[in-house]
Amino acid sequence: MSQFDITIIGSGPGGYVAAIRCAQLGFKTAIIEKYATLGGTCLNVGCIPSKALLASSHHYEELQHFADHGIEVSGKVKVNLAKMIERKQQVVDQTCGGIKFLMDKNKITVFEGVGSFVDTTHVNIAKNDGSNEVIETKYAIIATGSKPSTLPFISVDKERIITSTEALKMTEVPKHLVIIGGGVIGIELGQVYLRLGAQVSVVEYLDRIIPGMDGALSKELTKVLKKQGMKFYTSHKVKEVTRKGKAVTVKADDAKGNELVLEGDYCLVAVGRRPYTDGLNAAAAGVKITERGQVEVNDHLQTSASNIYAIGDVVRGAMLAHKAEEEGVMVAEFIAGQRPHIDYNLIPGVVYTWPEVAGVGKTEEQLKAEGIAYKAGSFPFKALGRARASADLDGFVKVLADAKTDEILGMHMIGARCADLIAEAVVAMEFRASAEDLTRMSHAHPTFAEAIKEAALAATDNRALHV
Ligand code: FAD
Repeated sequence: MSQFDITIIGSGPGGYVAAIRCAQLGFKTAIIEKYATLGGTCLNVGCIPSKALLASSHHYEELQHFADHGIEVSGKVKVNLAKMIERKQQVVDQTCGGIKFLMDKNKITVFEGVGSFVDTTHVNIAKNDGSNEVIETKYAIIATGSKPSTLPFISVDKERIITSTEALKMTEVPKHLVIIGGGVIGIELGQVYLRLGAQVSVVEYLDRIIPGMDGALSKELTKVLKKQGMKFYTSHKVKEVTRKGKAVTVKADDAKGNELVLEGDYCLVAVGRRPYTDGLNAAAAGVKITERGQVEVNDHLQTSASNIYAIGDVVRGAMLAHKAEEEGVMVAEFIAGQRPHIDYNLIPGVVYTWPEVAGVGKTEEQLKAEGIAYKAGSFPFKALGRARASADLDGFVKVLADAKTDEILGMHMIGARCADLIAEAVVAMEFRASAEDLTRMSHAHPTFAEAIKEAALAATDNRALHV
């Protein structure tokens, strides 16, 4: 029987990063993945393919504005969706291939099959060829991720009533795509097909889209996307989704009980994701699963079985690839006797629409609810030279700082390149910078990053220079 120090079940960003760090720390490491390609949701049907389609559709959208820049395109520009999807798949294949390379480079044993616990130190691998192999392991890390969830009355047929997985491999641009759920995944994929020519309607139960983020970001993103043609039905509770041939009907009620009926040709169900532990046989190892289906863990990400840890989407907290990665590193280092640490308050959230949306730390709503006295400073991108030069005028940066100490408590932004700009906020907050600290740092001109400095100036005695 093969023996390992650490066995990781699941090869998403949590699992594969944990495996690399375990190997770096000198552990004999195995990783088990049920699919033929490594990389999990993120690389195969999540972050990477969605960003590839966002990039392609953004190019197409930008073409519409070429004339403003004095570039004349003669002849009709049209979308070749099959080619776009093929390119997306190439990006996915290359990225997943890169993970296989990293596993080999770090001498990590890769098993293809479903991993399930026999007991706390033995894992069975049900291989795709029908055979089984049991391996022995001192420690195990559960990194089995998540799957799209649905509502009990919706039957996802994966043809017309689809999840994000099918939305990443469409064979035609929908005429009318009805999206249930105004969270990050629904909005990003909605913008892809909106740019490609679909009518897109978003039905959201809560009173705003991207509800986890600062309210001002939801408001601005709604405004921008409405301008681009997306339709929103917030505060609407979907009650029925039916399909007849190629037509899908979505019925919802607003808060007053008024019925909304939307007729589309596709319905994307984007109501969140559920932790995935099917087939893991967690009980055999004494690993507790919570009522919400998550693997129960303590602050060290240790499960109810002391030699078994769990990370990523399958445990509590934000369902984000970089959160899973941080947890993978933390568990590996913890097993090695080190004292790693994650500040969950400083895990940034990003929406990769254009304009991009990003936030870190406390939102204004959270500060109010927690009764923390704060000051806020905002700066609009339209006042920046760089934004004017590239015609990316939408959005703003908002800095929230402690009213007394001036420590930055949160930073929220919407605009061009905010997915990258948010890193400055994370660094500042990690080092517990004050808003004043940011105002004293030179920001290259002309850059989008100047909006951060200006917002910090606005937060400290209203000193923004360019408004
Ligand atoms: P996963 O990536 O879900 O990987 C789990 C792996 O475990 C899977 O490969 C699965 O097959 C395998 N597995 C499960 N059970 C077993 C078993 N018993 N035996 C063997 N293998 C098993 N996050 C971001 O941070 N940024 C983004 O831009 C972003 N975009 C997204 C877009 C979409 C459309 C979606 C769906 C998600 C997106 N996410 C994004 C979320 C991100 O994909 C997840 O947070 C991340 O993949 C979680 O990583 P993980 O390692 O916990 O699990």
